[in-house]
Amino acid sequence: MQYISTRDREQQFSASQAIAKGLAEDGGLLTPVYLPKLPRRALEELKNMSYQQRAVYVMKLFLDEFSVKELTDFANAAYGPEKFDTPAVAPVRALDGNTYCLELWHGPTCAFKDMALQMLPHLLTASLRKQEEEKTVCILVATSGDTGKGALEGFRDVDHTKILVFYPKDGVSTIQELQMVTQEGANVGVCSVVGNFDDAQTGVKRLFSDEKLREQLARRGYFLSSANSINWGRVLPQIVYYISAYCDLLRDGRLELGDPVNVCVPTGNFGNILAAYYARDMGVPIQKLICASNSNNVLTDFLSTGTYDRNRTFFNTISPSMDILISSNLERLLLAITQEDSEVRGYMEQLNATGRYQVSDRVREKIQKLFKGYCCGDEETKRVIAAIHEKFGYLIDPHTAVGFSALSQYRAETGDETAAIVASTASPFKFCTDVLDALGVSDRAQGLDVLDQLSQVTGEPVPAPLAALRSKESRFRQTVEKEHMVDAVLGMLE
Ligand SMILES: *Cc1c(COP(=O)(O)O)cnc(C)c1O
Repeated sequence: MQYISTRDREQQFSASQAIAKGLAEDGGLLTPVYLPKLPRRALEELKNMSYQQRAVYVMKLFLDEFSVKELTDFANAAYGPEKFDTPAVAPVRALDGNTYCLELWHGPTCAFKDMALQMLPHLLTASLRKQEEEKTVCILVATSGDTGKGALEGFRDVDHTKILVFYPKDGVSTIQELQMVTQEGANVGVCSVVGNFDDAQTGVKRLFSDEKLREQLARRGYFLSSANSINWGRVLPQIVYYISAYCDLLRDGRLELGDPVNVCVPTGNFGNILAAYYARDMGVPIQKLICASNSNNVLTDFLSTGTYDRNRTFFNTISPSMDILISSNLERLLLAITQEDSEVRGYMEQLNATGRYQVSDRVREKIQKLFKGYCCGDEETKRVIAAIHEKFGYLIDPHTAVGFSALSQYRAETGDETAAIVASTASPFKFCTDVLDALGVSDRAQGLDVLDQLSQVTGEPVPAPLAALRSKESRFRQTVEKEHMVDAVLGMLE
């Protein structure tokens, strides 16, 4: 299987090259030339397999350079009992007869990023070996909260790697920040940036295209790579859990083979929902893809009008991992829909130059056949947390609540009551203060004591990795202006 840049089909790479590079030189995203189809009996076969086995099966379709043995070792290490607190890895929880919640937060950092970031270091280091790369890879990450911790945890003490995470100083929750600044490992660095997530992400993109920096680092024995969701090694492991969720529903007799499902995904950078689109394209009977946004509703507008326009006010919300105005992975969808690298290149040039682009009517109509977008603000998010808790005795985090709001808006608007899977992207314990607020608790504890308070109020246990934060020391304090992110890189890679 070959991989191409979304902006230039002529640039072709093998899977290991694509994963090692992270991003094409022209700024495009490396993407499979075509999507493999699941063989006819695949869902039936996968139904009786473990999550790890499903992961091997699906990833093998995309990674012909990797042996089944290699992929099995990776899957067992990434999704084993040391990392995930349930053998199901990504369990599906039924709320009622046609509403399911796909829990993607049972990994070491309690957010869905673990699903991909526990796998990526294995894929990346193996890819580098296949490329006979001798330099040490330095992973640069811009995070809106969860990616950073997920990547730090995935790469900590992995040989021949360093990792440096940039997060927006005032754009992450207290617990998210504590999770990052207490990170252990000899090869890790964490630095906050004055500004919002887009400032951090744009800054990291600029570092990648900085030729002088590249040369300087090469002399020191390093090269840069990315763990952001633009890396194919991030998207691929995410396809697995949509296929797995469908198989679980088959196995448990909740669906018959071929029955349609809708999938609803709380969305930021468009990586997670893109994986659902790919699962659909491969043959999972997914009918509609419901894209849920918070007040940063650039995608909701795009899906309804065909115009992507990032020139708008940026809001800090209680679902900070979705506070994003440039959804990078949308570029991959545009390639899949248009099949025209030159058209995608044109849109991205406009986005860079003016902050907006408008897709052709043909492209808009094709996208609208598959996708529906909805958004909600913080008050609605809190109302939904309370309502789901009240109705089902089930506790969800603010990101997941945005998803449930979108699903109910969709159902009210269309009357479509097809079984729906809502991706649950974080443990509510990562966002205790806002969840307590939503549940009507006005007298909230300080610092980490909110973990116990939420546990007492709801009867749910505090996830072990969050409880452990109490005994950890802060290791990182550096803050930089976005123009000076390069200093942090050079400081770490002396
Ligand atoms: C990253 C993240 C999202 C957004 O996912 P994308 O792949 O960027 O669309 C949603 N919820 C949580 C909790 C996240 O960490």
